[in-house]
Amino acid sequence: MIFSTPKKFTPATKTVHVSGAKALWFIFKKNDLLVMHNSGTEGALEIPNLTDPSELGISTGPQQFIGYYGDQPCYAAVVSGIPKENDSFIWSGLRALFGRLTDELFSVSGRAYQIADWHRGHQYCGRCGTKNSLQEGERCLVCPSCGQLHYPRVSPAIMVMIQKAEEFLLARSPHFIPGMYSALAGFSEPGETLEETVHREVYEEVGIRVKNIRYFASQPWPFPHSLMIAFHADYASGEINIDPDEIEDANWFNVHNLPERLPGLISISRKLIDATLNELRHH
Ligand SMILES: [Zn+2]
Repeated sequence: MIFSTPKKFTPATKTVHVSGAKALWFIFKKNDLLVMHNSGTEGALEIPNLTDPSELGISTGPQQFIGYYGDQPCYAAVVSGIPKENDSFIWSGLRALFGRLTDELFSVSGRAYQIADWHRGHQYCGRCGTKNSLQEGERCLVCPSCGQLHYPRVSPAIMVMIQKAEEFLLARSPHFIPGMYSALAGFSEPGETLEETVHREVYEEVGIRVKNIRYFASQPWPFPHSLMIAFHADYASGEINIDPDEIEDANWFNVHNLPERLPGLISISRKLIDATLNELRHH
């Protein structure tokens, strides 16, 4: 799965990094990551391997040690000030780096982005406004004044593939690219189990009831900090009645009648749809 933890990556919060040694630097400017051209492979990109970002003429604000890639220490950081342009690197949105970084480093970039974004967004305590400090040995910021702890935010969201015999339900939201349909999805609310989120989201978005909810897989989704948890479910009752604020269209599809476009291979929605198609084709 893209956006999982590569075998080569060991998450850590406490560095034994020796000053002056090289490290992989995941440096963000707003939502863009600094990447360098890979000298060996045409079109391929890589994460800069530096002693310090100042080697590229870049100064950074908050820096976070995130772990080791093989034996290379990895840092997530955010630029401070306006960095000078330089021919040796480019800034790119994460999605556009899929297929240009290795899948492993692409996954670590997603993790680095979530940590950098959390760190820059929690410089001050949200409760009393005092400047936070890092909690030793934990991925956590603590307020020295009121003691409030600030952990990186992870927002669980469900995704569900609803089947009715040989058919399955896909929907499109108004912000999808033309022709694309995907499985239903939505954020869980405080007080809900994930199964309850599935029942509520499905009923709110398309007005039907489901049963037999089965876990499929999960995927961190760093846009900006979701954890997608995907399920299969069976149709129970009702007719499709869409919520026009959320959904532009929803319909029953089958293996011989697919939408014009499906979500990209990067996403768990595509894995969920492909798994359903495989099962139906071999049934
Ligand atoms: Zn506080």
